[in-house]
Amino acid sequence: MAIHPIVVYGEPVLHRKADPVVDFDDDLRTLVADMFETLKVSNGVGLAAPQIGVGKQIFVYDADDEVEGRRRRGVFINPILTASRIPDSRPHPDTESEGCLSVPSLDFPLKRANKVTVNGFDENGERISLSAEGWFARIMQHEFDHLQGTLYVDRLDKRWAKKWTRAKADFGYGVPGLSWLPGTDPDPFGHEAVDEDLD
Ligand code: ZN
Repeated sequence: MAIHPIVVYGEPVLHRKADPVVDFDDDLRTLVADMFETLKVSNGVGLAAPQIGVGKQIFVYDADDEVEGRRRRGVFINPILTASRIPDSRPHPDTESEGCLSVPSLDFPLKRANKVTVNGFDENGERISLSAEGWFARIMQHEFDHLQGTLYVDRLDKRWAKKWTRAKADFGYGVPGLSWLPGTDPDPFGHEAVDEDLD
């Protein structure tokens, strides 16, 4: 297994729709294993293939589901997501802040749907399905978005989008070619272990 560098906002592969996986072969299974390894070392809770520079519809997740009271870990390939309505209210900065391994060191509040169902395939081509609520539903929406070429910072409301625009300039994000290597470069979110930040 290998740990892959994580590309940063501005890298073109993050900003286009990922391609569906066609071959469920050993190369795919190696890639998925690498994604789990990279996710673990990055202390994130989810990782989408475009974040390691691979424009394919794959994401992995590994996080506590507080509603279900258990840890959930898995992969989705070629997923389809259905979600409840996103509430038309302002996001709470303490309880609804989201982060992304491809937007290092930052987090911003964002409203998400409370309930989702994801359908797709695992690395062996078997059909799989997952339903989630609350924080875990947020993780699913965040990762699914990555496969559409959308990052959470692209969805911020006006007030937070302004702050993001400023932070993007300060950090020098928004240009191609930036990346960081989990386990080698300093953890951009200061984690010692997995916590509530999304990847
Ligand atoms: Zn992300």
